Amino acid sequence: MSPAPVTADKIMDKLVSLAKRRGFVFQSSEIYGGLGSVWDYGPLGVELKKNIKERWWRSMVHAREDIEGLDAAILMHPKVWEASGHVSGFSDPLVDCKKCKNRFRADDPRIKGTPGQPDAQCPVCGSKGTLTAPRQFNLMFKTFMGPVEEQAAVIYLRPETAQGIYVNYLNVLQSSRQKIPFGIAQIGKAFRNEITPGNFIFRTREFEQMEMQFFVKPGTENEWFEFWRSERMTWVEGLGIRPDKLRWHQHDKDELAHYATDAYDIQYEFPFGWQEFEGIHNRTDFDLSNHQKYAGKKLDYLDPKTNERFIPYVVETSAGADRTTLVVLCDAYREEEVGGAEAAEGGDQRVVLKLKPSLAPLKAAVFPLVNKDGMPELAHRICDDLRRHFNVFYDDGGSIGRFGITIDGQSTQDQTVTVRDRDTLKQDRVGAAQLVDYLTQKLAG
Ligand code: ATP
Repeated sequence: MSPAPVTADKIMDKLVSLAKRRGFVFQSSEIYGGLGSVWDYGPLGVELKKNIKERWWRSMVHAREDIEGLDAAILMHPKVWEASGHVSGFSDPLVDCKKCKNRFRADDPRIKGTPGQPDAQCPVCGSKGTLTAPRQFNLMFKTFMGPVEEQAAVIYLRPETAQGIYVNYLNVLQSSRQKIPFGIAQIGKAFRNEITPGNFIFRTREFEQMEMQFFVKPGTENEWFEFWRSERMTWVEGLGIRPDKLRWHQHDKDELAHYATDAYDIQYEFPFGWQEFEGIHNRTDFDLSNHQKYAGKKLDYLDPKTNERFIPYVVETSAGADRTTLVVLCDAYREEEVGGAEAAEGGDQRVVLKLKPSLAPLKAAVFPLVNKDGMPELAHRICDDLRRHFNVFYDDGGSIGRFGITIDGQSTQDQTVTVRDRDTLKQDRVGAAQLVDYLTQKLAG
């Protein structure tokens, strides 16, 4: 990881407070002091994240004939996590400070020296020689099913959505008439008891994933891997992210997850450095083979053309909905120098989120120039009309809607309105009857 820029904390602090002020993201259970690394999405945040998820769903499921959608349950048979390797392998090496009782990932860059040795220094209390040697700590949340808290009833909150896809692979294959190669896509919650969570919604304990597993004939996986790398980067660029803030990172042998033989991350340059927000993984037949073994159920595929039987290989595209939302927010965040009435927040500085219009939570604000002479009535009529097509609101005066629609004296005469682009501050005079078409065009893409 590249060193974080000096101003990183400041920018993140500003973004977190802007997100709260405007109703994007709130700390979970805030009135009780908050729950660590769990966040709630407010009125604008829920719309933004939903727009991102819907965009993903449209491009991965609706726009393709070879991908089916799925919504599997969070709770699954406990054997799933034995077969997937998560019970034995999904862990982080952790060290504890015996003095201040804090816990860290063994690779925490703030630790000086070697944990377990006398030279190691605790990054919180500064004591020397108090850090334990690393121990493995499983990241899955456990809970109990049924009334008796006994070992047999232990189940896990899923740490990834992918397994719900694997265990339904046959069901989807048989009910959808797909043939290999084909994919199954799903958006859903995942839970990880992360030890060093942080950076706002970057690494949280409860989050949403947008995952797609593409089942292919063994031997063709490298081709599909490259295909999906290119597709996913195109999709990410379509969010309007500045291209110089995006890059690929290939996992080396030490980084690869237990199930993968090749993996590339799409990284974004966050204020705290380059970090992944989506991964493309070659998972081979690891998961399906293990489920076949653990469940005792045949999961191989009979190729109708060649009569060959094989267990498909899987190319996975795995994106975090929350992390992608953070990418979009970080990339859209701008502080601009303005004068006069535009200085909405903080002296002559204006803080704007330059969101791509199609992602913006609120598309337009409609307001009368003055509250008389038939202007409010016309503004209400126009707003109600637009509401059937877009998420718009009446008379806020704030700077939230992507477009500002003003109803003035001229509007009541000739049924035209002023539409102002909040980012460029450019204005157009548009006929009220043409507003839906006008906005549709502006919001496309
Ligand atoms: P990291 O090491 O950064 O926690 P990972 O390599 O474990 O991530 P994957 O298991 O590949 O991540 O999960 C795929 C995607 O799911 C990630 O790219 C990220 O967008 C999202 N994700 C994973 N863990 C979290 C988390 N704790 N909070 C938010 N999003 C997460």
